[in-house]
Amino acid sequence: MTHSEATPGSPTRQAIADAEAHSAHNYHPLPVVVASAEGAWMTDVEGRRYLDLLAGYSALNFGHRNRRLIDAARDQLERVTLTSRAFHHERFAEFCAELAALCGKEMVLPMNTGAEAVETAVKTARKWGYRVKGVPDGRAKIVVAGDNFHGRTTTIVSFSTDHEARADFGPYTPGFEIVPYGDLTAMEAALTANTVAVLIEPIQGEAGVLVPPAGYLAGVRELTRERGVLLIADEIQSGLGRTGRTFACEHEDVVPDVYLLGKALGGGVVPVSAVVADRSVLGVFRPGEHGSTFGGNPLACAVALEVIAMLRTGEFQVRAAELGDHLHRELGVLVGQGAVTAVRGRGLWAGVDVDPSLGTGREVSERLMARGVLAKDTHGSTIRFAPPLVISKEDLDWGLARFREVLDAG
Ligand code: PLP
Repeated sequence: MTHSEATPGSPTRQAIADAEAHSAHNYHPLPVVVASAEGAWMTDVEGRRYLDLLAGYSALNFGHRNRRLIDAARDQLERVTLTSRAFHHERFAEFCAELAALCGKEMVLPMNTGAEAVETAVKTARKWGYRVKGVPDGRAKIVVAGDNFHGRTTTIVSFSTDHEARADFGPYTPGFEIVPYGDLTAMEAALTANTVAVLIEPIQGEAGVLVPPAGYLAGVRELTRERGVLLIADEIQSGLGRTGRTFACEHEDVVPDVYLLGKALGGGVVPVSAVVADRSVLGVFRPGEHGSTFGGNPLACAVALEVIAMLRTGEFQVRAAELGDHLHRELGVLVGQGAVTAVRGRGLWAGVDVDPSLGTGREVSERLMARGVLAKDTHGSTIRFAPPLVISKEDLDWGLARFREVLDAG
């Protein structure tokens, strides 16, 4: 079956029309309707197969329907799925202990989505600031980076610099200071006695897979340590194997005070996020001050425990590093040869800038789709490649060949 445009009256066209009729238009999906998926491949409602080079924005690091994760979920489905945190359940303690150990920390606060983990970190840092650091009540400041992406809640968009994400959603939450990403001098100048935390992505995913200058993260770590400020690393997209290490911070030997995890922690099966830190930080919470009905539920814990066990082997990190080197070598040779103007990233994660004369990132993504490859633009003319870490080298090469075809077709 070819990947030509969905024909009028086709199941694809019908499904898209139905979705547009009854769902809010807060996304602009590619015109493909997925029916099933396995590993790095997806099949649409008309039987066409596509190579997935997006991996659910890195939520599918272990591939679609990874056998170990599906088995863990199925096993848990037969026991108990939800208790709420009103009661203890069998998998909770193990999940917290294992995740804390993976991060080299002492405590875990589980939530569901990435944005909730970020919100939780904001509350954690503020309370820590008032109760531990001694910041006067209501004066806590959190320093963030320009071009950040930390989620979509009203507080989080308050410190976004993206007009689309922010406009019309005010009034905005105060208490944040924005500095340019990668600029240590600006960061140093922004830290005051009332700064409780620096919240940062070790690599900015949505901004176009921006890797900060060498030494930046280590510099931020040193500054925050010196000034008694928490370093919160948002590893929701960069973490859990994507960059060739368990955490992207490891590339600069940086250990933050707080890890924010999400996406791949739920194995592409269920939403699972978490804030992970030492007792001196997460110990600030008392019953009633924070929570979530679904956070830390048995199904989430069972799947995440399997994710953690898989990461413990190191095999996915090695794969991401090796295949990532290959990906960046292959993409690197395209730079300056025609339409590719820049390639950034680490591990199995790349942001590729194409010359706007070739088309927008959206148009390039549509042309890739027509050739059986699913990827997505970030901003403007940047395409993001983030295949599942289980992708084979042959499939990756096949996808790259399709990308070269799109570039050559102009
Ligand atoms: N933080 C980062 C770095 C992200 O990339 C994202 C999502 O793309 C989020 C937070 C928000 O996660 P969620 O969409 O699960 O709320």
